[in-house]
Amino acid sequence: MTKHVTHWIDGRAWEGVSARRGDLHDPATGAVTGSVDFASVKETDDAVAAAAAAFPGWRAASVAKRTTVLFAFRELLNQHKDELAALIVAEHGKVHSDALGEVARGLEVVEFACGIGNLLKGDFNDSASTGVEVYSLHQPLGPVAIISPFNFPAMVPMWFFPVAIAAGNTVVLKPSEKDPSASVFLAHLWQRAGLPDGVFNVVQGDKVAVDRLLEHPDIQSVSFVGSTPIARYVYENGTRYGKRVQALGGAKNHMVVLPDADLDLAADAAVSAGFGAAGERCMAVSVLVAVDPIGDELVAKIAERMATLKVGPGCLPDSEMGPLVTGVHRDKVTSYLDAGVTAGADLVVDGRKHAIGGAEAGIDTAAGFWLGPTLFDNVTSSMSIYTDEIFGPVLSVVRAPSYDEALALVNSNPYGNGVAVFTNDGGAAARFRDQVEVGMVGVNVPIPVPVAYHSFGGWKASLFGDTHAYGPHGVHFFTRTKAVTQRWLDPSHGGVNLGFPVNH
Ligand code: NAD
Repeated sequence: MTKHVTHWIDGRAWEGVSARRGDLHDPATGAVTGSVDFASVKETDDAVAAAAAAFPGWRAASVAKRTTVLFAFRELLNQHKDELAALIVAEHGKVHSDALGEVARGLEVVEFACGIGNLLKGDFNDSASTGVEVYSLHQPLGPVAIISPFNFPAMVPMWFFPVAIAAGNTVVLKPSEKDPSASVFLAHLWQRAGLPDGVFNVVQGDKVAVDRLLEHPDIQSVSFVGSTPIARYVYENGTRYGKRVQALGGAKNHMVVLPDADLDLAADAAVSAGFGAAGERCMAVSVLVAVDPIGDELVAKIAERMATLKVGPGCLPDSEMGPLVTGVHRDKVTSYLDAGVTAGADLVVDGRKHAIGGAEAGIDTAAGFWLGPTLFDNVTSSMSIYTDEIFGPVLSVVRAPSYDEALALVNSNPYGNGVAVFTNDGGAAARFRDQVEVGMVGVNVPIPVPVAYHSFGGWKASLFGDTHAYGPHGVHFFTRTKAVTQRWLDPSHGGVNLGFPVNH
């Protein structure tokens, strides 16, 4: 039996008329496990129409009503997180504990959005002028679009939709076509939580659906996460059609290790942040900058830890790292191993030689999309393994002679998503924190994903737009402010006056 994933529109599965479909794979075995429908303009329009029809009712629902639904969704998500994680493992390939971690980070945003009553409080000024009061309202935008990448099929949509829905908007989500099941699972949970039909809709598919969402006159805003070229495209086209757009792009995250750092801690962190989720994280560390003279010792410690990593199917409890998402992506990532060697880098650990588990559980991984953890040393900034976002389990070590050169390297990189510094020197960490041109900074924390009540977002080519995801930025993005100036006239108001109000 293979599965068939389709759209979710107006509270029900919606097959539509499009005949286009894509295959779904189990990345651990390479087997085709099902198919996903690809929306045409018609299905996309159907989803937007459902969101538009549901908007007046949902925006009029009291904050108390909306919060009740959010709390119920939070409870259901928590109860069913294991099933959701299993769906993610089956289509994405990441290990189960990591999939649970992704759900937990999404849950945090749901919990943040449960406090929407507090977050939507307007400002009020009494006596702005004589007898005049001014206050602001934060109102929802209308139907909003969310377009998400393959690497976090539950968490990334949850960076946006809890806040969007809590604020009174209605949603059309276009998830990645590589792992679409999580989106439909979440839609079912919303329905069970009591969300009215049409408030949360899902269209499956590709560029056809994305392009229609970008141009559709009823879509008020677009929240996109994916690679930089598509993020730029979505930002330019969405804004051209007059929409509010936040488009989060790719990354090349550096971890700078200063000579005074605890090298065991740094090596543990580099391996965890470099190879967790097989490097398919936008906040993964892909470049380690070792400031002289610690490079040799640090590289040895990292290589030693890499040798013990258990690589195998994500459904097995022992596996620490799973496969890549598709065969095409695995081949592209693997091509960088040859490119790095040709460019003159030292291939310290070759991921092609790493043992792959699964046989002990009777899982045939021969045709799976595997590549083990890989380490390059003496990488320079002109090599493609440094310049390109590889998005796989490949860690490059660059040697830097000084703090200043390490900082200059990070700041000259076109991306600016995440960065980490490892040091025991508080003064050096403070200097780095102030000088580095990156949106999210970790001090002895390798993957500094902000908690839900801060906001997530990079700088430079890692984010187009000026609003980050979730937290205060999320509330700002999904509402528009109205300033109301009011006066309740006193019978002795003084009659016609063509001037500005005068303060007494
Ligand atoms: P992607 O850019 O290929 O796809 C993202 C979304 O865009 C998907 O829904 C996809 O269907 C759609 N899409 C793909 N090609 C399109 C086109 N030509 N026109 C319109 N839409 C298109 O990204 P991906 O491979 O799914 O995800 C990995 C990328 O996402 C990496 O670059 C990673 O760094 C990035 N990412 C960034 C963040 C962040 O917070 N900055 C978070 C997660 C992932």
